[in-house]
Amino acid sequence: MKILFVASEAHPLIKTGGLADVAGSLSSALAGQGQDVRLLIPNYQAIGPRTDIRYLGSLRIDNRNINLLETRIAETGVTAWLIDYPAYYNYPGNPYLDASGEPWANNAERFALFCKVAVAVAMNRVKQNWQPDIVHCNDWQSGLVPALLSLEPEAKPATVFTIHNLAYQGVFPPETLTSLGLPVELWHPEGLEFHDQLSFMKGGLVYADAITTVSPTYAQEIQTEAFGCGLEGLLSHRQADLVGILNGIDEGQWDPHTDPHIAQAFDASTLALKQANKAALQQQFGLPIDDTLPVFALISRLVEQKGIDLVIACLPDMMALPMQFVLLGDGNKTFISQLQSLAADYPERFALRIGYNEKLAHQIEAGADVFLMPSRFEPCGLNQMYSQRYGTLPLVRNTGGLADTVVDALPQTLADHTATGFVFSEANPGPLLEAIKRALTVYSMPKAWQTMQVQAMGKDFSWQRSAAEYWQVYCRVTS
Ligand code: ADP
Repeated sequence: MKILFVASEAHPLIKTGGLADVAGSLSSALAGQGQDVRLLIPNYQAIGPRTDIRYLGSLRIDNRNINLLETRIAETGVTAWLIDYPAYYNYPGNPYLDASGEPWANNAERFALFCKVAVAVAMNRVKQNWQPDIVHCNDWQSGLVPALLSLEPEAKPATVFTIHNLAYQGVFPPETLTSLGLPVELWHPEGLEFHDQLSFMKGGLVYADAITTVSPTYAQEIQTEAFGCGLEGLLSHRQADLVGILNGIDEGQWDPHTDPHIAQAFDASTLALKQANKAALQQQFGLPIDDTLPVFALISRLVEQKGIDLVIACLPDMMALPMQFVLLGDGNKTFISQLQSLAADYPERFALRIGYNEKLAHQIEAGADVFLMPSRFEPCGLNQMYSQRYGTLPLVRNTGGLADTVVDALPQTLADHTATGFVFSEANPGPLLEAIKRALTVYSMPKAWQTMQVQAMGKDFSWQRSAAEYWQVYCRVTS
């Protein structure tokens, strides 16, 4: 199958978040399965000069001359087509935000052009003799593609639209429709119009043949008012075409057996070796080296979405329990100062590192016993999956991808050896603390704990599994 993957970021070319991982890994997994994949992405300045760039051709859209370049991503073997239009993409820094953290003022123009080029490629109008069977779009930046393709009279590919984050919708003033030269037939409440504004996201949600999001539970949640960001009605209307497919993880990068960042390699058959990583972690964070106390950990953006306020609220109670706690993160200044003052109050129990540190993240995953993710919402989440691979049992709130990837330790799941972590439901400090106490109870039973670790470490979080599910969606929309 020929698949055009339309994404505004893709690892390792450019990454700001999970979308880049999905674009990089999924396109690679599909190519590895023998599919003919092209990744289409703007040629941002941050992509930098590449040695193997090939000029494919130029096209003219809205009186603009655009070059199409080709490069092969060595790490994944996938061919990427870069949209070269320096006036829109040759800016320093972030693809979406300017230096002050505000969206680029011309984002509507930048991503409308991105979509129009994608349509030209999809309709085989770029003289490459290559027409996709599937156009797979991602997030609002590519939302106009299904909408514009819907107006093509014939020979159009099927479309799939994936929601990575429903909170960002690409909503612009109504006059943007004309300034972007978009067809007026798309302007109505069942089209691109969203409360008198122009919504790029709706282009994907209304017109794509299939919609996916990054976990089955989030697929249900976004059909409700609490999570739907105003689009819950449309999403439940399209529920027959909406499916949740969990992201995979990079199993090469996150493997305790080969991880170059950690003190001691280990796997499920040599779990006792994990202890050396715990001692290294305690030392690294300046905590007493004590193998009897469980080390709880948290690595996160310090924002309300991640339930950091819940952790802060129950931290004094946690400190009265037999445990240590290490936290790595950056974000909200108020959270940071509250955490710093708590770290000063409990120097033997709680240690904090502010900042982004990939290597330390690996060391924490390897050395901790329990990993906290009390998120208010979590479309998929990655750390709970990394944690399980490292035998670090996740303690999570029952939402989104967390609900789909962690099996709560209950009498039944402990008995049948399916338990891999601890789950609580209500987003309040009390229920979080209760779950922490449950984790301590199981921790005091080494055999049960070890059984959970082995079960967690054996779970399949591979991209191969995800790619097989996307493949089923592709087959459905093309049949
Ligand atoms: P989100 O994309 O909402 O931030 P995810 O769990 O999907 O949450 O992915 C976050 C990724 O970023 C994880 O791999 C996590 O380990 C990493 N991360 C977050 N904060 C830090 C940090 N301060 N240092 C190192 N890695 C971090």
